[in-house]
Amino acid sequence: MVRLVFLGPPGAGKGTQASLVADLYQVPHISTGDILRSNVKEESPLGIQAKEYMDKGDLVPDQLILDMVQKRLEHPDAENGWILDGFPRTVTQAEEFAKKLLSGSSTENETESNSFQVINLEVPDDILVTRLLSRGRQDDNQETIKNRLQVYYQQTQPLIEFYQARQQLVTVDGNQSVDVVTNSLKQTIDKLI
Ligand code: AMP
Repeated sequence: MVRLVFLGPPGAGKGTQASLVADLYQVPHISTGDILRSNVKEESPLGIQAKEYMDKGDLVPDQLILDMVQKRLEHPDAENGWILDGFPRTVTQAEEFAKKLLSGSSTENETESNSFQVINLEVPDDILVTRLLSRGRQDDNQETIKNRLQVYYQQTQPLIEFYQARQQLVTVDGNQSVDVVTNSLKQTIDKLI
């Protein structure tokens, strides 16, 4: 079963690649950023709360994100696999997520089937900034980009070690053309599943 977390700094190409790979393996692409942005657009209670954090490039509080992801994973389309893009983003989210996934299993086999792999898309910093500035999203201005990269290094990068220690991490070079990255992801994933 394809159950993957795409990890990487903003601008690494997680969204583009997660969407392409989800199509290839016929599993839903679950992007917390996309879900949040549609909540902001609809002005839902979650969207109203999340907007102030997103506009600054800060992380939305863990509990809001955990509830949102749990709800999304309960959707029937997520039964046979998923690709998570942009979650987890903090060690707390990763720990709570592992607990949640495991809490649903009663036997060892089920524990096995509740496992997932993490793909770390690696791209150098200077390339990230150039890519983000050319994307033109509302939160892609110079000031916010600086903050989002800082937030990534402080709060999300520790997840690399977290998942490495749990032998769940594979690193893929994201500093190549879209097609080349998709191909190396496909080769990596075929070995994992
Ligand atoms: P993204 O599209 O993944 O770059 O996410 C856009 C923004 O949504 C981020 O800058 C955060 O403010 C928020 N966000 C997305 N995913 C998470 C998450 N897992 N935890 C906290 N905030 C998030």
